[in-house]
Amino acid sequence: MSDKSIFRFAPSPNGALHLGHAYSALLNRRMADKAHGTMLLRLEDIDTTRCSAAYEMQMLQDLHWLGIEWSEPVRRQSAHFDDYRQALDRLQAMQLLYPAFMTRGDIRKFVAEREGAGIQWPRDPDGAPHYPGEERQFSTGQRQDLIGSGKPFAWRLDVDKACDMAENPLFWEELGRGPMGQTGRIKAEPSIWGDVILARMDVPTSYHLSVVVDDALQSVSDIVRGHDLFHATSMHRLLQSLLELPTPRYHHHRLLQDGFGRKLSKSDGDTSIRQLRARGLSADAVLALCESSQTI
Ligand code: GLU
Repeated sequence: MSDKSIFRFAPSPNGALHLGHAYSALLNRRMADKAHGTMLLRLEDIDTTRCSAAYEMQMLQDLHWLGIEWSEPVRRQSAHFDDYRQALDRLQAMQLLYPAFMTRGDIRKFVAEREGAGIQWPRDPDGAPHYPGEERQFSTGQRQDLIGSGKPFAWRLDVDKACDMAENPLFWEELGRGPMGQTGRIKAEPSIWGDVILARMDVPTSYHLSVVVDDALQSVSDIVRGHDLFHATSMHRLLQSLLELPTPRYHHHRLLQDGFGRKLSKSDGDTSIRQLRARGLSADAVLALCESSQTI
């Protein structure tokens, strides 16, 4: 990692920029200025079905209007699938990936049956059940037959095997706070996620994989983002260790809520920057609003 502090604001252009984004972008900008560093803008648009050029253009315009500046060039993840494929190939060569064929419906049914029989099934920090992972044991021949049959699948990480091959234990430096106030030296617990998807048939990557590859390729030293991604850091540390990538510092910040105590979302038009601007608020008033908004 270089000595220069490099921050990044990394929204997904799949909706309007809202107050929560503006707050995150503002914190990145301020911290970068304080460290005499740089702030980059990365558009996390691997989900080409939900992200669009129109949303992207609107986000850039909204940021400009707010007066939040970044250093060029903007990195668009959709233009770098080869970088993610290389990382995926490396994990594949380490035999840490397996093709997983269960659909969401299959998983739900499988877990409901177990839970119905009184078995407590593990869930990830977002509440989703861990992948059953029966294919982990399949032979190469079985895997090839299934792939050859055209049945849809995703590449999942065998998290237990991955933890055995990575540095152990893994830590990160938390300069902000997690949802329960966690701060300081935090021990990563990647297995809380179960066997996550790292790539799909049509997209050679996932959020977890592309974010660690990009943070390394862009020499990011400081990650400032909402505390809804605090637990994801455990998975990121595991992938960084396996791929021999540097470990940035992390600073998770509070999340803004709407007037009903809910986390702000892109579908919530009232807190979109565009909407606030249309109501006649100045950029300074919008920035002041993010800082004074209710938080969790
Ligand atoms: N693209 C993610 C989001 O919009 C943020 C990723 C990150 O900061 O690590 O929630």
